[in-house]
Amino acid sequence: MTHVFTPAAPAAVPVEGGGTFPVHRIYCVGRNYAEHAREMGHSGREPPFFFLKPADTVVPVAFGATGAIDYPGLTSDLQHEIELVVAIGKGGRDIAAAAAREHVFGYAIGLDMTRRDRQSEMKKQGRPWEIGKAFEQSAPISPIVPIARSGVLSGGAITLAVNDQPRQQGDLSDLIWSVDETIEQLSRAWTLQPGDLVFTGTPAGVGAVQRGDLMEGRIAGLGALRVVVR
Ligand code: MN
Repeated sequence: MTHVFTPAAPAAVPVEGGGTFPVHRIYCVGRNYAEHAREMGHSGREPPFFFLKPADTVVPVAFGATGAIDYPGLTSDLQHEIELVVAIGKGGRDIAAAAAREHVFGYAIGLDMTRRDRQSEMKKQGRPWEIGKAFEQSAPISPIVPIARSGVLSGGAITLAVNDQPRQQGDLSDLIWSVDETIEQLSRAWTLQPGDLVFTGTPAGVGAVQRGDLMEGRIAGLGALRVVVR
Protein backbone atom coordinates (compact mmCIF):
# COMPACT_ATOMS: atom_id res chain seq x y z
CA MET A 1 0.00 0.00 0.00
CA THR A 2 1.20 3.52 -0.72
CA HIS A 3 0.36 6.47 1.45
CA VAL A 4 -2.07 8.85 -0.21
CA PHE A 5 0.06 11.75 1.02
CA THR A 6 3.54 12.08 2.52
CA PRO A 7 3.33 11.52 6.28
CA ALA A 8 4.79 14.19 8.57
CA ALA A 9 8.28 13.40 9.85
CA PRO A 10 8.10 11.96 13.38
CA ALA A 11 8.66 14.43 16.20
CA ALA A 12 12.15 14.02 17.63
CA VAL A 13 14.22 15.46 20.47
CA PRO A 14 18.04 15.73 20.28
CA VAL A 15 20.05 13.55 22.65
CA GLU A 16 23.08 14.94 24.49
CA GLY A 17 26.08 13.15 23.05
CA GLY A 18 24.49 12.53 19.66
CA GLY A 19 21.47 11.29 17.82
CA THR A 20 17.81 12.07 18.23
CA PHE A 21 15.03 10.48 20.25
CA PRO A 22 11.94 9.90 18.08
CA VAL A 23 8.85 10.69 20.13
CA HIS A 24 6.09 8.09 20.26
CA ARG A 25 3.66 9.43 22.89
CA ILE A 26 3.72 12.09 25.60
CA TYR A 27 2.19 11.07 28.93
CA CYS A 28 1.72 13.64 31.67
CA VAL A 29 1.11 13.08 35.38
CA GLY A 30 -1.35 15.39 37.14
CA ARG A 31 -0.78 16.86 40.61
CA ASN A 32 2.39 15.01 41.61
CA TYR A 33 3.84 17.47 44.16
CA ALA A 34 1.87 17.97 47.39
CA GLU A 35 2.21 21.75 47.47
CA HIS A 36 1.06 22.10 43.87
CA ALA A 37 -1.87 19.75 44.55
CA ARG A 38 -2.80 22.08 47.42
CA GLU A 39 -2.54 25.21 45.29
CA MET A 40 -4.91 23.51 42.82
CA GLY A 41 -7.35 22.79 45.66
CA HIS A 42 -6.57 19.16 46.45
CA SER A 43 -4.94 17.33 49.33
CA GLY A 44 -3.73 13.88 50.25
CA ARG A 45 -2.08 11.13 48.22
CA GLU A 46 -4.52 10.12 45.55
CA PRO A 47 -3.60 7.54 42.90
CA PRO A 48 -1.70 9.19 40.05
CA PHE A 49 -3.73 10.20 37.02
CA PHE A 50 -2.58 10.77 33.50
CA PHE A 51 -3.32 12.76 30.39
CA LEU A 52 -1.58 12.89 27.02
CA LYS A 53 -0.26 15.45 24.62
CA PRO A 54 0.31 14.68 20.93
CA ALA A 55 3.94 13.85 20.08
CA ASP A 56 4.22 16.85 17.77
CA THR A 57 3.61 19.35 20.58
CA VAL A 58 7.31 19.14 21.52
CA VAL A 59 9.45 22.22 20.89
CA PRO A 60 13.08 21.09 21.32
CA VAL A 61 15.45 23.75 22.66
CA ALA A 62 19.22 23.18 22.81
CA PHE A 63 21.11 23.75 26.07
CA GLY A 64 22.50 27.29 25.99
CA ALA A 65 19.93 28.43 23.40
CA THR A 66 16.68 30.32 23.87
CA GLY A 67 13.68 28.72 22.20
CA ALA A 68 10.36 30.38 21.42
CA ILE A 69 6.69 29.47 21.50
CA ASP A 70 3.75 31.44 20.17
CA TYR A 71 1.12 32.65 22.64
CA PRO A 72 -1.78 30.36 21.74
CA GLY A 73 -5.30 31.42 20.88
CA LEU A 74 -8.37 30.77 23.04
CA THR A 75 -6.72 31.77 26.30
CA SER A 76 -5.89 34.78 28.43
CA ASP A 77 -4.22 32.64 31.11
CA LEU A 78 -1.29 30.73 29.58
CA GLN A 79 0.59 29.13 32.49
CA HIS A 80 3.99 27.48 32.95
CA GLU A 81 4.55 24.10 34.60
CA ILE A 82 8.21 23.08 34.89
CA GLU A 83 8.62 19.29 34.93
CA LEU A 84 11.18 16.50 34.95
CA VAL A 85 10.65 14.51 31.76
CA VAL A 86 11.51 10.82 31.67
CA ALA A 87 12.38 9.34 28.27
CA ILE A 88 11.45 5.68 27.88
CA GLY A 89 14.02 3.61 25.99
CA LYS A 90 12.60 0.14 26.51
CA GLY A 91 8.89 -0.62 26.32
CA GLY A 92 6.73 -2.91 28.38
CA ARG A 93 3.51 -3.35 30.29
CA ASP A 94 2.85 -4.08 33.94
CA ILE A 95 6.39 -2.97 34.79
CA ALA A 96 7.20 -3.30 38.50
CA ALA A 97 8.58 -0.19 40.18
CA ALA A 98 11.71 -2.16 41.11
CA ALA A 99 12.39 -2.84 37.43
CA ALA A 100 11.35 0.59 36.12
CA ARG A 101 14.89 1.95 35.88
CA GLU A 102 15.82 -0.46 33.09
CA HIS A 103 13.16 1.20 30.95
CA VAL A 104 14.53 4.74 31.35
CA PHE A 105 16.69 6.02 28.51
CA GLY A 106 17.28 9.44 30.02
CA TYR A 107 15.83 12.69 31.29
CA ALA A 108 14.95 16.14 30.03
CA ILE A 109 13.62 19.43 31.33
CA GLY A 110 10.10 20.09 30.04
CA LEU A 111 7.40 22.73 30.22
CA ASP A 112 3.80 21.52 30.35
CA MET A 113 2.28 24.74 29.02
CA THR A 114 -1.37 25.05 29.99
CA ARG A 115 -4.33 27.18 28.95
CA ARG A 116 -5.45 27.33 32.58
CA ASP A 117 -8.72 29.12 31.89
CA ARG A 118 -9.78 26.48 29.36
CA GLN A 119 -8.62 23.63 31.63
CA SER A 120 -10.55 25.03 34.62
CA GLU A 121 -13.74 25.34 32.56
CA MET A 122 -13.45 21.78 31.30
CA LYS A 123 -12.79 20.48 34.84
CA LYS A 124 -15.85 22.30 36.13
CA GLN A 125 -17.98 20.79 33.38
CA GLY A 126 -16.47 17.32 33.74
CA ARG A 127 -15.20 17.48 30.16
CA PRO A 128 -11.84 16.39 28.66
CA TRP A 129 -8.79 18.62 29.21
CA GLU A 130 -7.24 18.53 25.73
CA ILE A 131 -8.12 22.10 24.88
CA GLY A 132 -6.25 23.20 27.99
CA LYS A 133 -3.24 20.91 27.63
CA ALA A 134 -2.77 19.36 24.21
CA PHE A 135 -2.39 22.40 21.96
CA GLU A 136 0.46 23.05 19.53
CA GLN A 137 3.86 24.02 20.98
CA SER A 138 2.62 23.12 24.47
CA ALA A 139 5.65 20.95 25.32
CA PRO A 140 8.96 22.85 25.09
CA ILE A 141 11.76 20.45 26.01
CA SER A 142 15.53 20.42 26.50
CA PRO A 143 17.75 17.81 24.88
CA ILE A 144 17.49 14.36 26.48
CA VAL A 145 20.40 13.51 28.75
CA PRO A 146 21.07 9.75 28.78
CA ILE A 147 20.88 8.20 32.24
CA ALA A 148 24.42 6.93 31.64
CA ARG A 149 25.55 10.58 31.78
CA SER A 150 23.22 12.02 34.42
CA GLY A 151 22.94 9.07 36.76
CA VAL A 152 19.57 8.32 38.38
CA LEU A 153 17.75 11.54 39.30
CA SER A 154 15.80 11.03 42.50
CA GLY A 155 16.46 14.37 44.21
CA GLY A 156 17.67 17.86 43.44
CA ALA A 157 16.21 21.29 42.81
CA ILE A 158 13.62 21.91 40.12
CA THR A 159 12.93 25.60 39.56
CA LEU A 160 11.40 28.04 37.13
CA ALA A 161 12.01 31.77 36.86
CA VAL A 162 10.17 34.23 34.60
CA ASN A 163 12.22 37.28 33.58
CA ASP A 164 14.70 36.28 36.33
CA GLN A 165 11.99 36.37 39.02
CA PRO A 166 11.63 33.02 40.87
CA ARG A 167 8.21 31.43 40.35
CA GLN A 168 8.37 27.66 40.90
CA GLN A 169 10.62 25.85 43.35
CA GLY A 170 10.64 22.25 44.39
CA ASP A 171 12.81 19.21 44.80
CA LEU A 172 12.58 15.99 42.80
CA SER A 173 12.52 14.10 46.10
CA ASP A 174 9.11 15.70 46.80
CA LEU A 175 7.39 13.84 43.97
CA ILE A 176 4.28 12.19 45.47
CA TRP A 177 4.71 9.31 43.03
CA SER A 178 8.36 8.65 42.24
CA VAL A 179 9.53 8.08 38.68
CA ASP A 180 9.67 4.32 39.34
CA GLU A 181 6.14 4.26 40.80
CA THR A 182 4.84 6.42 37.96
CA ILE A 183 6.24 3.99 35.37
CA GLU A 184 4.63 1.11 37.27
CA GLN A 185 1.20 2.77 37.32
CA LEU A 186 1.42 4.12 33.77
CA SER A 187 2.39 0.73 32.33
CA ARG A 188 -0.74 -0.84 33.81
CA ALA A 189 -2.88 1.48 31.73
CA TRP A 190 -0.83 1.67 28.52
CA THR A 191 1.87 -0.46 26.93
CA LEU A 192 4.94 1.74 27.11
CA GLN A 193 7.09 1.93 24.00
CA PRO A 194 10.56 3.25 23.22
CA GLY A 195 10.05 6.91 22.35
CA ASP A 196 7.49 7.63 25.05
CA LEU A 197 8.05 10.75 27.14
CA VAL A 198 6.62 11.09 30.63
CA PHE A 199 6.11 14.58 32.09
CA THR A 200 6.19 13.78 35.80
CA GLY A 201 4.29 16.72 37.28
CA THR A 202 5.06 20.23 38.45
CA PRO A 203 5.98 21.77 41.82
CA ALA A 204 4.09 24.67 43.39
CA GLY A 205 4.18 28.19 41.99
CA VAL A 206 2.50 27.81 38.60
CA GLY A 207 1.47 31.11 37.07
CA ALA A 208 0.75 33.08 33.95
CA VAL A 209 3.13 34.33 31.28
CA GLN A 210 2.65 37.12 28.75
CA ARG A 211 4.08 37.76 25.31
CA GLY A 212 7.74 38.74 25.67
CA ASP A 213 8.30 36.81 28.90
CA LEU A 214 11.39 34.62 29.21
CA MET A 215 10.96 31.36 31.13
CA GLU A 216 14.04 29.64 32.51
CA GLY A 217 13.55 26.18 33.98
CA ARG A 218 16.35 24.38 35.77
CA ILE A 219 16.78 20.87 37.09
CA ALA A 220 19.88 19.96 39.09
CA GLY A 221 21.99 17.50 37.14
CA LEU A 222 20.48 18.42 33.76
CA GLY A 223 20.87 22.14 33.12
CA ALA A 224 18.53 24.88 31.94
CA LEU A 225 15.66 25.24 29.48
CA ARG A 226 15.09 28.78 28.22
CA VAL A 227 11.96 29.68 26.27
CA VAL A 228 10.49 33.03 25.32
CA VAL A 229 6.79 33.58 24.61
CA ARG A 230 6.25 35.56 21.42
MN1 MN B 1 1.77 19.29 34.39
